[in-house]
Amino acid sequence: MIDTHAHLTVEPLVADVDAVALRAKERGLQKIVNICIDEKSLLEGLELAKRHPWIFNAAATTPHDVEKEGESFFPLVEKHLKQLVAIGETGLDYFYAHSPKEIQQKFLRKYLLLTKRSGLPLIFHCRDAFADLFAIVDEVAPKHPAILHCFTGTLDEAKGCLKRGWMISFSGIVTFKKSEALRAVVKEIPLQNLLVETDAPYLAPQSKRGSVNEPAFIMETVEMIAALKGISTQEMIKIAADNAIKFFPFSKVERGV
Ligand SMILES: [Zn+2]
Repeated sequence: MIDTHAHLTVEPLVADVDAVALRAKERGLQKIVNICIDEKSLLEGLELAKRHPWIFNAAATTPHDVEKEGESFFPLVEKHLKQLVAIGETGLDYFYAHSPKEIQQKFLRKYLLLTKRSGLPLIFHCRDAFADLFAIVDEVAPKHPAILHCFTGTLDEAKGCLKRGWMISFSGIVTFKKSEALRAVVKEIPLQNLLVETDAPYLAPQSKRGSVNEPAFIMETVEMIAALKGISTQEMIKIAADNAIKFFPFSKVERGV
């Protein structure tokens, strides 16, 4: 199993990150993509990957923080491109709108240009902003490999992602009691476009709701998705892992090129 999206090097997981990694390994995780959102989490992430070569890093300022930290972090992402397996999470969040829309869009464009230069795939965060996300990506980086992470949108929005060839990644939210609409969307997503993530330390699955999430808890989400797709958990694990291996350039980082 591969967790395609966890924040291991932010609080509170970073404080005990080697134990978190060990528990993930014990639960059968073969790889984790650690999402770095600022200088501290990226530098910790690079150290973490040295100690645990089965953990890989992605980096970008989140749409929430681009107003404050976007400019200062961008050169650091550029500097470490060789050690990354993706650019992200970038995108648009008009639900929280912690940073002004225009600044979110500006950084989305900057990261899109960076992925074109680097050839790295993208990880998108999008909330209440699909029309603008689609328009900007279509303009700046059409056909670029991308994941819509922690998908919570509608079936139409999912279809917009699929039309662009994107992967759709589901988190523990699919296990929440009230997520009937989202579970209906999962049923419609082709297996070859599916990924599974924890988004740890956030969004612990239903049986652990309210606690700090970690990659070791991913199976509850995998089991739910497998049930929705009408396949065995083992099949789902293999499909999701194969999809992740196809998507992320893990071997590039392993070879150091
Ligand atoms: Zn995240």
